[in-house]
Amino acid sequence: MALGEFDLIGRYFTRPARNAVLGVGDDCALLAPTPGCHWAVTSDMLVEGRHFLPTVSPRRLGHKALAVNLSDLAACGARPVAYTLALALPRVDEVFLAGLAEGLHGLADAHGIELVGGDTTAGPLNLCITAIGEVPAGCALRRDGARAGDVLWVSHPTSGGIGDARLALEVFRGRLALPAEAFESVRTAMECPQPRVALGRALVGVATSAIDLSDGLCGDLGHILGRSGVGARVQADAVPRSPVLAAQPRDLQLECLLAGGDDYELLFTAPASAEARVRAAAQSAGVAVTPIGRIESEPGLRVVDARGQALPLQWRGFDHFAS
Ligand code: ADP
Ligand code: MG
Repeated sequence: MALGEFDLIGRYFTRPARNAVLGVGDDCALLAPTPGCHWAVTSDMLVEGRHFLPTVSPRRLGHKALAVNLSDLAACGARPVAYTLALALPRVDEVFLAGLAEGLHGLADAHGIELVGGDTTAGPLNLCITAIGEVPAGCALRRDGARAGDVLWVSHPTSGGIGDARLALEVFRGRLALPAEAFESVRTAMECPQPRVALGRALVGVATSAIDLSDGLCGDLGHILGRSGVGARVQADAVPRSPVLAAQPRDLQLECLLAGGDDYELLFTAPASAEARVRAAAQSAGVAVTPIGRIESEPGLRVVDARGQALPLQWRGFDHFAS
């Protein structure tokens, strides 16, 4: 290795402690809990070929590795505090490391958090981040609070929707071609997701349940329904989509919208009476939200078209061990 392990950590992964009492450089990082708060802790691993393509830029890879973890904190309504990074690298490539660090630190700075520790080893490229946040005790958004009659909402970019990341993946897989500009916008959705941290925090006390969309709308909604012991009716035509996705054949649109994955938007429920509060939360967070269905007491997921006809449900969530 051209650069030793500790030089590498010092150069690329050591940042001044802001939230932490003690950051990188000792056996443990030290964090001081805020009285009255619970820790929210989440880990996500990114494996080359599984979660990202070798073509992704190091900066976007760093961004996404942290973004998917902050998205989990957002889904719990937690405020991010700090994170750790366990990294396996096939070789020391300083151009790669500089880009990766730029992506990580850029998103961390945007959320006022820092890298407080980790582990570095030689091996096939693999990044595992653990993100730590906090949420007032008893107030975390969870998957088990949806109630019959609640409205089902999804967040999305103001002039876009969900499903773009899946559309980009279809292009990378060679199943479809898009004009350069359209491809660039869906590729950015796939490689550069924006975790909805501000929205999640604003929904504390408003939403009854929440999850972030990582494995596809139907599959992730299934987790809320299962944990809450309820069912749902989703209006397929109400699910927001970008102009690029809306220009695709209907079957492809539905596949991307209902089974897409990698959206990192929030799917959440709230009582119908909370609509104004939901919209105010979204506005304060600078994100769009759209109602796409209702929670029902009858178990199961019913996806219907504009005439109320059920669509065939072949869109299961993404399961790493099933495909
Ligand atoms: P130990 O052997 O005590 O586990 P290490 O020698 O692995 O510690 O790491 C030295 C310091 O560098 C520790 O504070 C550790 O948290 C930090 N560190 C190691 N790898 C990373 C990384 N990829 N990103 C951030 N900090 C790291
Ligand atoms: Mg040690």
